[in-house]
Amino acid sequence: MSGKALHQFLSENLEELKSKGLYRKLPVVTGPTGPRCIINGKEVINLSSNNYLGLANDPRLKEAAIKAIEKYGAGSGAVRTIVGTLDIHEELEEKLAKFKKAEAVIAFQSGFNCNMGTVSALMTKDDAILSDELNHASIIDGCRLSGAKILRYKHSDMDDLRRVIKEAKESNQYKKLMIITDGVFSMDGDIAKLPEIVEIAEEFEAFTYVDDAHASGVLGKNGSGSVSHFGLYGKVDCQIGTLSKALGVVGGYVAGTKELIDWLKLRGRPFLFSTALTPADAAAALKAVEILSESPDLVEKLWENARYFKDKMKGAGFDIGHSETPITPVIVGDEAKCMQFSDELFKEGVFAQGIAFPTVPRGTARVRNMITASHTKDMIDEAVEIYKKVAEKMDIL
Ligand code: PMP
Repeated sequence: MSGKALHQFLSENLEELKSKGLYRKLPVVTGPTGPRCIINGKEVINLSSNNYLGLANDPRLKEAAIKAIEKYGAGSGAVRTIVGTLDIHEELEEKLAKFKKAEAVIAFQSGFNCNMGTVSALMTKDDAILSDELNHASIIDGCRLSGAKILRYKHSDMDDLRRVIKEAKESNQYKKLMIITDGVFSMDGDIAKLPEIVEIAEEFEAFTYVDDAHASGVLGKNGSGSVSHFGLYGKVDCQIGTLSKALGVVGGYVAGTKELIDWLKLRGRPFLFSTALTPADAAAALKAVEILSESPDLVEKLWENARYFKDKMKGAGFDIGHSETPITPVIVGDEAKCMQFSDELFKEGVFAQGIAFPTVPRGTARVRNMITASHTKDMIDEAVEIYKKVAEKMDIL
């Protein structure tokens, strides 16, 4: 490809995005991304962060990170398999395994890496993956990379899953079958039907893979995830979590049997070929796991705030979809109107991201709200009042 052809490719595609209103500049945060923060120079109530428990700004995590930098330095210096494994990486994995009540854990540098590396290490072109149609991009990319046949089922539709897996099983074409799902779906805030998924997997001799990115720190005992939420210990083969959302830092992990984790340490390509989590990240994440293991307080506060916000928004007449978690969409429908709604909210002092096609189906554009444990009731009241004011002005309610 000549430089000219590349230029043509880029300019045509960028123009197309601009013409569809999908070209957006990155919002820039000055200072901590707390419940109230400065975005593009304006102080706003932040309803878009995955920092569910406020741990990203917790003094205990900051202190752990600073101490780790002083002890180990800024970087880990190598991939885990060469000389990048620090004692705190192993301590983090041991504490996470205990927290998840799993035999073992392997930590990756991000949740995205974790899905890419894990799915591609477990599945091959001889296998088939049953994948919920609303699964996260990192799951989709991991599935593609594996070369396995991808069979999508309708979102959380257990009859459709059963139909697709039955066909796959009866075809006798595949060596392994895997059912893969988000634990909590990030656009609607609904929870995967894990008990039914596990039952179907047992019936058709498939194994199960759950990505708990939005369930970690949110669902189950002390926020230990969807397996705990449903009491399905030992029934889900592969549990993914991220350290970047409720746990407040960065990184991802897999929890499962010792055999599974051994295999991923030998075949998980991001683990093998990308530099290990920094000392500061590992130490701060370790502190976050310790805090959660010791007390349910932050998780309880998160749910109290989420219920308070949802009740108020529903009471004001907003359509908040069928969310079962702190992720609260406000469905607008029309894409342009939704983006304008988000812009107007920002002008009035609320940062809540507008989300449109192709991230969500056409006609279901929404402003997505993430309530956290660190929002105060006053902030939530203020945000709801701003929502009402802007909605009235834009004729949305
Ligand atoms: N899985 C899901 C379901 C997610 O929502 C995300 C984050 N958007 C990821 C994986 C990726 O996690 P990370 O940000 O840690 O890379």
